[in-house]
Amino acid sequence: MSAVGSLPQLQIHPTRRCNLSCRHCYTASGPEVRETLPAGLLLAAISDAAELGYRQLGVSGGEPLLYDALPSLLSEARACGMVTTFTTNGLLLSEKSVGRLAGVTDFVAVSLDGTRASHDAMRGRIGAFDAAVRNLRHLRDAGIPFGVITTLTQHNLDELAELADLVEAEGALLLQVHPLDLQGRAALQLPGANPDAVELVIAMCEVLRLGEDRRLVIHLDALLKEHLVAQPERFLGTGQVGSAHLADWIPSLVVQSDGAVVPITHGMDTAHALGWLEDAPLRELAAWWHAERAEEFASACRRAYVHLTRPSAPPVTYWYEALSAAIRSPRRIPLTVA
Ligand code: SF4
Repeated sequence: MSAVGSLPQLQIHPTRRCNLSCRHCYTASGPEVRETLPAGLLLAAISDAAELGYRQLGVSGGEPLLYDALPSLLSEARACGMVTTFTTNGLLLSEKSVGRLAGVTDFVAVSLDGTRASHDAMRGRIGAFDAAVRNLRHLRDAGIPFGVITTLTQHNLDELAELADLVEAEGALLLQVHPLDLQGRAALQLPGANPDAVELVIAMCEVLRLGEDRRLVIHLDALLKEHLVAQPERFLGTGQVGSAHLADWIPSLVVQSDGAVVPITHGMDTAHALGWLEDAPLRELAAWWHAERAEEFASACRRAYVHLTRPSAPPVTYWYEALSAAIRSPRRIPLTVA
């Protein structure tokens, strides 16, 4: 999951190893999972991504703190002029681990899902919530800005106010509310728990209400349909398909832990992948994709856009997930653009 900002982002999932095995994990990570990418491939990909116009690195997982080369990835990104972030469950934040990252990390996102009982149930570990909150002091002590990312389900919006109060008191700058992605383990263990359109509308109102008169920024990863309608260029980027800088029109490029490089979001249909890092460097994959697949992907985006902005479409949408789902189900969307 991305953590901050609107800069074009390279998101890397270097490993699916994790010290937890959460019910909602969209990458199905866990202690028994060994899928890990070599650091050399990722260091080269970061350098190539900077050349393609990406200005932010977001490292996610699995648990990034279990990836030994995390400091090297962040350091390389910094050297390439990128802003650096990573997302963690917080349990492995310590004086020592944070100390290794202090000079190369611009922002850390710590995952907290609702209040203590809900979080521990989702994470499958009693005490996980308290430990993660306790460990935030290491980020404060090191002077690393941090935020909290929380998963919105159909059932936990009533916990958002308490969480906002707590994380603001702890010194977080951002509370990012991310609708549950029904991928990976979440699809198996939490079917139907993703927020429906009504819940997203209510959540948007609640986020606006809670955000008044606070230092803490509260952001919901969802968009009003009217914004989609008013600013199609922000979501399609098709005016720049010919640009040499991929980042001009693909705002997020994702390296999955199997080495697949996909546009926009984790879990995007690999029919639209740039390719696999084991096969070629990112700059070559990007050049091939640009020549062979970019127009096809732009066309799929346009069809999804028409579908998501039709009169009967929900008033609020989580654009990246909806785009990914629409592209996965092409027969459910119109074949021509109005
Ligand atoms: S959600 Fe995060 S902490 Fe939980 S298993 Fe997945 S990667 Fe690990």
